[in-house]
Amino acid sequence: MSDAIAAARAEGRTLLTEVESKQLLQAAGIPVTEARLATTAKQAATVAAEIGFPIVMKILSPDIAHKSDVGGVALGLANATAVRRAYSEMMAKVRAAAPGARIDGVSVQRQATPGTEVIVGATTDPQFGPVMMFGLGGVFVEVLKDVSFRIVPLEPRDARQMIREINGFPILEGVRGKPGADLAALERLILQVSRFVWERREIQELDLNPVFAYPDGAVAVDARVVLAPVAAEVEA
Ligand code: ADP
Ligand code: MG
Repeated sequence: MSDAIAAARAEGRTLLTEVESKQLLQAAGIPVTEARLATTAKQAATVAAEIGFPIVMKILSPDIAHKSDVGGVALGLANATAVRRAYSEMMAKVRAAAPGARIDGVSVQRQATPGTEVIVGATTDPQFGPVMMFGLGGVFVEVLKDVSFRIVPLEPRDARQMIREINGFPILEGVRGKPGADLAALERLILQVSRFVWERREIQELDLNPVFAYPDGAVAVDARVVLAPVAAEVEA
């Protein structure tokens, strides 16, 4: 197995970076904004020019799970100069906020069109095994805990229901003339993630936070995969 999981295992890590997480998801056919690694300001600017502006740059570190908390997300970078400047500013901010964190560079990706932010996640319950979670992004999840759960593996009907049973569902249907979200695309995404965590049982946790839901389609702009500790580490 020569993928991101093997690479993380070889280093004794359980937290996969955004680049690694998205590589795995993309290989499983799950829609993500592809994140490319850059290790210098100059390289970040070159990669950004290849992708096309505006771009988003994020800190890449196996020790940092919440990138914006440490100043590690820069949105709306419009040209190469902005990218180079943001790179050095980001390194300074992150080093101050997370001293000692291993920093592998940055991820560079296209800035996705804004959409309705939803969260698709999976955790492993000691009793039930993998469990899927769905909710609307931001305050809906953090403050209102407006989420739905299903035990993996999901049937198409489960995905349909878990989208419809959150209190915020009317927002996804479209309110006051705003177009609704592509519910079929969200159902597909939930089922793909269910299959993915079912097949890769060493994944303990998976977060697509946020997924941008559009009237036509959906894409995960952030992804985080956490592996289960290997048996030897559990015993230690
Ligand atoms: P964190 O590790 O803090 O969760 P995220 O990757 O989720 O970092 O980025 C923070 C926020 O920036 C997201 O919630 C989203 O609103 C926005 N964002 C991240 N990536 C993109 C992108 N590729 N296109 C547009 N917006 C993005
Ligand atoms: Mg996020």
